Amino acid sequence: PYDVLIVGGGPAGAAAAIYAARKGIRTGVVAERFGGQVLDTMSIENFISVTETEGPKFAAALEQHVKTYDVDIMNLQRAEKLTQKDGVNEIQLASGATLKAKAVILATGARWREINVPGEREYRNHGVAYCPHCDGPLFKGKRVAVIGGGNSGVEAAIDLAGIVSHVTLLEFGAELRADEVLQRKLRSLANVTVITQAQTTEVHGDGTKVNALSYKDLVSGELKNVELEGIFVQIGLVPNTEWLKGSLTLSRHGEIEIDARGQTSLAGVFAAGDVTTVPYKQIVIAVGEGAKASLAAFDYIIRS
Ligand code: FAD
Repeated sequence: PYDVLIVGGGPAGAAAAIYAARKGIRTGVVAERFGGQVLDTMSIENFISVTETEGPKFAAALEQHVKTYDVDIMNLQRAEKLTQKDGVNEIQLASGATLKAKAVILATGARWREINVPGEREYRNHGVAYCPHCDGPLFKGKRVAVIGGGNSGVEAAIDLAGIVSHVTLLEFGAELRADEVLQRKLRSLANVTVITQAQTTEVHGDGTKVNALSYKDLVSGELKNVELEGIFVQIGLVPNTEWLKGSLTLSRHGEIEIDARGQTSLAGVFAAGDVTTVPYKQIVIAVGEGAKASLAAFDYIIRS
């Protein structure tokens, strides 16, 4: 069996693998797609000490760093079940194989919920964005829309209003769902327009980048157009935990509940990164959390 088996090959999983391997213990990484979400990222400008890089380049660097250590990388493998038998963890793969480990680190990440309208996929990274902390500065002085009036949408609109020229916030329901204090802050901003009962129907562009979106006014039924350069979709981040339901404690948003050391509700099972309840989903945070969970897993192993 492995001493530490990591499920997920994004920034959190890669950091966990390096920290475990450096302890000289038997380490494996199972990943559906080594690199994770950064593979879908254009430019990364907020990983401290790297002024600017591209997602695929960053992912390749992660893999290269892990490969300088004695780590079994099992790429293109999907984990489907986690069980424990006599104090040993078992991870069942879609291929039918079962891997055993003294400690497991879950780092399966998350995915942004999409609005699923024509143009969204086509213009992803060409005007359609999901992370205001990451991509906000790319729209400096431009017009953007935020889709979603929950806490993350309203926070994004407030954040972006300080960078861009104008923000249109579109909410499907009759009212915003964000905390009142955020709504108050939002309403105090001169360059924000809030439109409720608006269903986004299409992202338009000139073939290379976004230039407008259309939405249906759910009161009048009319189709309307907003000219802009950017669209931030903020309708939720979905943790990749469907396969873990019933095996450990998840929050009501489906995130793995962890303590300050990355320990989950199951002994010997740790978790790190976007898949957990840790606030703020960022690469630099996922990397730190992965390192922390790995040190905690090592502590667990030497005590058991
Ligand atoms: P992920 O990166 O999501 O990695 C999860 C890993 O688990 C992947 O290898 C995946 O294949 C694997 N996996 C999932 N389910 C299974 C399974 N059942 N079995 C096996 N493997 C599985 N952050 C920044 O800090 N700066 C940015 O500029 C930035 N830009 C972004 C742009 C975009 C378009 C997106 C989508 C995200 C961006 N982020 C950015 C966020 C950042 O990518 C994430 O916070 C970070 O990747 C989280 O790392 P993670 O390791 O927790 O999860």
